[in-house]
Amino acid sequence: MDAPLIEVRSLKMYFPVGNNILGRRRQLKAVDDVSFDLYPGETFGLVGESGCGKTTVGRSLVRLYHPTGGQILYRGVDIAPLDEKAVMPYRRRMQMIFQDPYASLNPRMTVSSIIAEPMRLQGVAQDAIAARVAELVEQVGLKKDHMNRYPHEFSGGQRQRIGIARALAMHPEFVVCDEPISALDVSIQAQVINMLEELQDSMGMTYLFVSHDLSMVRHISHRVGVMYLGHLVELATVRELYSNMQHPYTQALMSAVPIADPDLAARSQRIVLQGDVPQPIDPPPGCPFASRCRYVKPVCREVLPEMREVAPGHLLACHL
Ligand code: SF4
Repeated sequence: MDAPLIEVRSLKMYFPVGNNILGRRRQLKAVDDVSFDLYPGETFGLVGESGCGKTTVGRSLVRLYHPTGGQILYRGVDIAPLDEKAVMPYRRRMQMIFQDPYASLNPRMTVSSIIAEPMRLQGVAQDAIAARVAELVEQVGLKKDHMNRYPHEFSGGQRQRIGIARALAMHPEFVVCDEPISALDVSIQAQVINMLEELQDSMGMTYLFVSHDLSMVRHISHRVGVMYLGHLVELATVRELYSNMQHPYTQALMSAVPIADPDLAARSQRIVLQGDVPQPIDPPPGCPFASRCRYVKPVCREVLPEMREVAPGHLLACHL
């Protein structure tokens, strides 16, 4: 296997949320001690319920956030502690496709200005920008006469294509796709996914694909990480994870995926989670899943399980 493009080591992203009644600072631990590698050309799916920290991981990797702790080694260089100026050269190599194509495009800018913006910010020459915009418009399946129109004149799928063209403008090596199809009609979701796959094949990019849609993640990813309450609890290749899931939370998550085959659906059993989800503000010690786990043991409430390899490339954080 190639050397990793990005090595994430004990990443922490905490947000201050005021003081408690004793005057102590309170922090929301959105991402707590997350480690994994991303290899060139792969798609790494990051799944979990809403609020588990997966989007925060993506935003931290492209340095939209300044991490509270840990390392983000980009081709061996730790970009986590870099200030805004020092991180600029890395920004052009890392981009993000946002969930909401309606909110992520400036309504007062034309399509060509939106796509050109990252190049302008990086000081690319005007004639090179014009040529690249024309190329990108074609690459994402838009027409030349779309270039001078405004975002409100387009459908959701077309707006997401504009967002993708903008993300690809600087030939990024790494793209965070943050729920890129969840705001789109089902009929056009497959088109956007196919386009992302084709672009990856032709440009050799690495994707972090953040999603709560497990069927889509299975389709597009090479490896998958499962997050719960700011922690990574299981990581494996897509084939290994979907056939040999070990973590009780992964099992519950997968059991909720609709099955098309009625016979298989009748034989499968949905695991309904009981118990409360702990607050990510001042979470209790031990396993983050302990309050909802049907296999919980006393040790689970005391000691945070560490990630360990249970099969080649299959990592699990569970005391079982
Ligand atoms: Fe359940 Fe304990 Fe495993 Fe956590 S460590 S998932 S509580 S068995």
